[in-house]
Amino acid sequence: MPAVRFEVHQPTSLEQALDLLSTHRSSVRVLAGGTDLVPKLRAGVLDVQHLVSLARVPGLNRISFEEDDGLVIGAGARLSDVARHPAVQEYYPALAHACAVMATPQVRNMGTVVGNLANAAPSADTAAPLLAYDASLVIVERGGRRQLKLREFWTGPGLHVLEPWEIIEAIRVPSPPRRAGSCYQRISARSKTDIAAVGVAAFLALDLEGKILKARLALAAVAPTPLRAEEAEAMLEGQLPEEDLLLRAAAACVRASRPIDDLRASAAWRRKMVQVLAQRAIQESYRQAKQGGER
Ligand SMILES: Cc1cc2nc3c(=O)[nH]c(=O)nc-3n(C[C@H](O)[C@H](O)[C@H](O)COP(=O)(O)OP(=O)(O)OC[C@H]3O[C@@H](n4cnc5c(N)ncnc54)[C@H](O)[C@@H]3O)c2cc1C
Repeated sequence: MPAVRFEVHQPTSLEQALDLLSTHRSSVRVLAGGTDLVPKLRAGVLDVQHLVSLARVPGLNRISFEEDDGLVIGAGARLSDVARHPAVQEYYPALAHACAVMATPQVRNMGTVVGNLANAAPSADTAAPLLAYDASLVIVERGGRRQLKLREFWTGPGLHVLEPWEIIEAIRVPSPPRRAGSCYQRISARSKTDIAAVGVAAFLALDLEGKILKARLALAAVAPTPLRAEEAEAMLEGQLPEEDLLLRAAAACVRASRPIDDLRASAAWRRKMVQVLAQRAIQESYRQAKQGGER
């Protein structure tokens, strides 16, 4: 294996981190938990000379929830901390579940949710729940801060719109209404700890009569980027979730997918699993939403 040479910078403020990224912009990466980045550097598939660690930048580990403002997950928040957070468990169960079941305990204790999104793997487990919750990214650069809808972030496998001199400071997730439910379903063809071969997340909000007011469905590992299934969402809105409708909405999720054959699963198997997991995710979200309305 070739020797890997790079310098790790340890800024102690966001401003310093942004200065370092700007200075070394042609050959630099942000380092969070390193669970994606370090194996790539070791394997020699990534050639960068500078890593800017966020470990000593204060305030980035923040996970906070306000009813008015929703959830904020800082760039340093670990997967395991997000999985255990009481507000995430109560209001964002699909995300809590994704963070609790993905990877291994060691990886969950090191890896961050922001790193999972910024790595831009089509199979990223937190991607589908956060798309279903209509999350946004807070992106900073020297002298500026912008907010970007997560659904506009990825452009292809391993690709996104972030510039090398920008940092994702946090993820913002809107507060759910009272009669809402959500669910993340994932399956691996080989073993439970393997990367997901299919991931489906649903978020439903109901009106007072139990009709679906808002539906959000998101898919992972079945297209070049995680994506929303908008045709299926439109089919569900304004309706009661009769069995036939669920079947048709799940079929619309299959139509939205563009799976490939790879070492993890065949495209045909993935399509079948999208159908099954979408039905389950919608049913479970509806059950939770009804329960929320009865509390
Ligand atoms: C054994 C193993 C099992 C795994 N299993 C799974 C799994 O089941 N499901 C799954 O989804 N993933 C899995 N992963 C992948 C990985 O653990 C996750 O994607 C993790 O969340 C990455 O977070 P990190 O903090 O380690 O990111 P890092 O490795 O530090 O960074 C990943 C990428 O994001 C960029 N980045 C990180 N933070 C920022 C920021 N704030 N601003 C801008 N760019 C940033 C980095 O520059 C890098 O390009 C697994 C990894 C391993 C090693």
